Amino acid sequence: MTAEILIGERMRILIVEDDKLLGDGIVAGLRQAGFQADWVQDGAAGLAALQAEPFSAVVLDLGLPRMTGLEMLRRLRALKDAATAKTPVLILTARDTSQDVIAGLDAGSDDYMVKPFDLGELAARLRALVRRSAGGAAPQLKHGDLVLDPAAHAVTWQGASVDLSQREFALLNELLLNAGKVLTRTQLEASLYSWGEEVESNALEVHIHHLRRKTSPDLIRTVRGVGYMISK
Ligand code: CA
Repeated sequence: MTAEILIGERMRILIVEDDKLLGDGIVAGLRQAGFQADWVQDGAAGLAALQAEPFSAVVLDLGLPRMTGLEMLRRLRALKDAATAKTPVLILTARDTSQDVIAGLDAGSDDYMVKPFDLGELAARLRALVRRSAGGAAPQLKHGDLVLDPAAHAVTWQGASVDLSQREFALLNELLLNAGKVLTRTQLEASLYSWGEEVESNALEVHIHHLRRKTSPDLIRTVRGVGYMISK
């Protein structure tokens, strides 16, 4: 797989976590970091989801109902479909004993983090995992004078570094991943805000305004009554 394929497809992460508060937080955090995130709450559902659709990586809790994380991981690695069986897995563990970590690595996990953890670090580790599994190339998004590097969380315009807020970055990432398509307000707001969070009515316009000011007024087109787009 080349980096080009990753650019076209958004990184899709499966979260297998039975703690509702934590699962909700991880989903929101990863979406804000530009990932597509799906969440299931037990090991059996996790294995079924992976067999049903392709994922870029898995965030796996160990203590899970119906099938433990370790058991799910062993079964995943034993699947006949080689591409699915090799899906990168990051174990999330509340137990920081080295025994659990060793068992996880022995069962075929690629990385692990101990709870409580930092969402920014989780996102960075997932990008690294997906990059490694794709052959080490850094998947940058390029559009004319604009370069967005998801791994470095950096943007340059005409070679000069552009300072963006988290939400401006997420918004630009979303527009670039969908270059040539109009994104509605609802779609863009969903990529900006975690569930249940109040969205100020003009927040999107303000972010778009800032992005245009920091790059070019022509970069992002307003499609009246529909939304916004970056032309191909
Ligand atoms: Ca758990």
